[in-house]
Amino acid sequence: MNYPQLFQPLELGFTQLKNRMIMGSMHTGLEEEKNGFERLAAFYAARAKGGVGLIVTGGVSPNIAGWLAPFALTLSKQKHCSEHQIVTEAVHAENGKIALQILHAGRYGYHPLCVAPSRIKSPISLFKPWALSKKGVLKTIRDFANCASLAKKSGYDGVEIMGSEGYLINQFIASHTNKRSDQWGGDFQNRMRFPIEIVNAVRQKVGDDFIIIFRLSMLDLIEQGSSWDEVVLLAKALEEQNVNIINTGIGWHEARIPTIAQAVPRGGFAWVTERLKPHVQTPLVATNRINTPEMAEKILSSGQSDLISMARPFLADPEFANKAKAQKPEEINICIACNQSCLDHVFQKKLASCLVNPVACRETELIFKTTSRQKKIAVIGAGPGGLAFSAFAAEKGHNVTLYDKANEVGGQFNIAKQIPGKSEFGDSIQYFKNRLSLSNVTVRLNHDVTSEYLYSAGYDIVVLATGIKPRIPNIKGVDHAKVITYIEAIKQIKPIGHNVAIIGAGGIGFDVAEFVLALEETHHEVNHPFYKEWGIDMHYQNRGGIIKPEKDQPSKKLYLCQRKETKLGKNLGKTTGWIHRTHLKRNEVEMLAGVKYNLIDDKGLWITQNEKQRCLEVDTIILCAGQQSLNDLYQPLIDKQMDVHLIGGAELAVELDAARAIKQGAELAAIL
Ligand code: FAD
Ligand code: NAP
Ligand code: SF4
Repeated sequence: MNYPQLFQPLELGFTQLKNRMIMGSMHTGLEEEKNGFERLAAFYAARAKGGVGLIVTGGVSPNIAGWLAPFALTLSKQKHCSEHQIVTEAVHAENGKIALQILHAGRYGYHPLCVAPSRIKSPISLFKPWALSKKGVLKTIRDFANCASLAKKSGYDGVEIMGSEGYLINQFIASHTNKRSDQWGGDFQNRMRFPIEIVNAVRQKVGDDFIIIFRLSMLDLIEQGSSWDEVVLLAKALEEQNVNIINTGIGWHEARIPTIAQAVPRGGFAWVTERLKPHVQTPLVATNRINTPEMAEKILSSGQSDLISMARPFLADPEFANKAKAQKPEEINICIACNQSCLDHVFQKKLASCLVNPVACRETELIFKTTSRQKKIAVIGAGPGGLAFSAFAAEKGHNVTLYDKANEVGGQFNIAKQIPGKSEFGDSIQYFKNRLSLSNVTVRLNHDVTSEYLYSAGYDIVVLATGIKPRIPNIKGVDHAKVITYIEAIKQIKPIGHNVAIIGAGGIGFDVAEFVLALEETHHEVNHPFYKEWGIDMHYQNRGGIIKPEKDQPSKKLYLCQRKETKLGKNLGKTTGWIHRTHLKRNEVEMLAGVKYNLIDDKGLWITQNEKQRCLEVDTIILCAGQQSLNDLYQPLIDKQMDVHLIGGAELAVELDAARAIKQGAELAAIL
């Protein structure tokens, strides 16, 4: 497929972007690591080499009060420039362009020095901010300008001024957080003075030959957020201040509406940018849940925006742009919007990476050198772990044969892709399939291999990626006809009744609950009920673009059970767990903790909870009680003194996820 709009250069007068793709700002954690700038340089240089038009860095604070967390990256002094130059020179050496994002966290700052327009604590920080004095406001504006000027000295091609997601500038704009009565608060003209004065001061410092992007919150998704008229007014005022590009911000971080998770339909917020198009001439950027060149091209060609910002897709594949340009979209390692190794890591103060691309942010350490001693390798199991290992090992020059007893590659991803919102797991399988064929991996499906076969075939190395088998808990009556495993449920091998109990409330228990609830919905991917369910006002008649959520009658009566006393879903992803819990609660799923399973009989599932016995009268009981490793081949192969390695679920079933399976596959390939 051709992408004529995506590869149209963007003329900015004094400079040009080679295409319409921007790598959106993302904090990686490298910023705070030892040799962080060298590692950041390698990370961004790989993306520049991969052909993206413009990179925007993770947020950098213009002063200490603006830190998101203590000792966050700050650009406020001349002495900071030399470190930033390491990054800008690496990007320019790859013929790329890079802008520094200036982010002042305001009341989202997780430290006692944080400031805001008014002294109102945010629901997502423990710290109550100090209200900026009038002098403090002017000093902050000067700090933004100083930071931009230092960015120019460091070799950046521009800056992005972060005016959305509920950070300081956004806090001035919205009456939700701005209760001031001076010239910086009150009516909208006063509230928007702060961003306008910042842009004005920045432009004066950096001159006309420097890109200024303003990230404008076009849909706050909170009470007392901006009205649509205010968004338009501010956009026009920014245009008068000569900003070069206006980026779209969707939702404050404190909003309880998903904005980038799998629940959001692909390209699901481009309509917001489109609303602004008729009002300004400045190039506009569409964002959020855009992860394929097809979707990006569709948005551009239908005139919804002039540019596309993608952040996570460039973590997943640094070569995204080049592959699209070469018309090989099937070779793009697609971001599945899981947040597991990127945002969830950042929230846990761990280094970001990517579930489907473990090399992301480890460019200087996870290196695959062409081998000088080709080995004959058998890989058993074509789940994510086996797929990743096979591709990396074959790309290094090994002779790899991949076996699976199933009739398709993908392992459990073939089951996961059936869950509402997870269809992209299927795209990920497709990507690996293409990669196997490009790297000449021999794939043998429908092969349930034995240790004798592997021994006699003369392999130098055997990698067991045979995954897991579902655990069948020891409950009296577990062999009753109404009991099925999650695999039988999702593959719809056996019918699911109206009243359902789920035993086990881990990631799979929650997924199965979503699957069962969606069984009677015919529209969950196409005509997405997302906006109605989460209360997004697509007519934008209310401030913040929110409206009372609507809900349908639940299609099933569901019970989700676990033995632990803790809150259900406690171990789900930090940035996504709340979405699943909220969705199930809205569908009146009964979440039962501290359950003892007594018996299963014709009446249903008998449990004890809070010392009271009760029967959950259900037609179907689905087992989601964790898994056990499947590695029966290991000992027989060891006994034959073969060189055997275990990865993924075959190595350890506890806390297994695809991120670990893929990472282990890649790491093993790197050292063999
Ligand atoms: P598997 O994917 O289990 O693959 C093992 C393969 O080995 C299978 O294809 C099997 O057929 C083959 N095999 C086994 N024995 C033999 C043999 N003797 N000979 C030949 N072939 C053999 N993880 C996440 O990180 N995020 C999620 O959102 C997520 N959602 C999920 C949702 C569902 C519904 C399910 C079921 C799983 C989900 N997972 C998720 C878990 C994830 O899919 C697994 O962690 C991952 O697939 C494990 O990879 P693996 O390579 O270890 O093995
Ligand atoms: P899991 O998260 O370990 O959950 C297993 C559940 O089974 C727990 O609720 C556990 O709770 C229960 N259980 C364990 N032993 C039991 C027994 N003997 N009898 C009855 N109940 C028992 O595993 P999973 O849900 O199978 O998921 C597998 C992996 O896939 C997870 O590690 C997860 O990371 C990954 N995954 C991730 C996502 C995601 O969205 N990120 C989605 C799906 C899967 P009690 O012991 O309290 O009863
Ligand atoms: Fe995308 Fe998941 Fe990778 Fe994050 S970890 S970039 S969401 S695939």
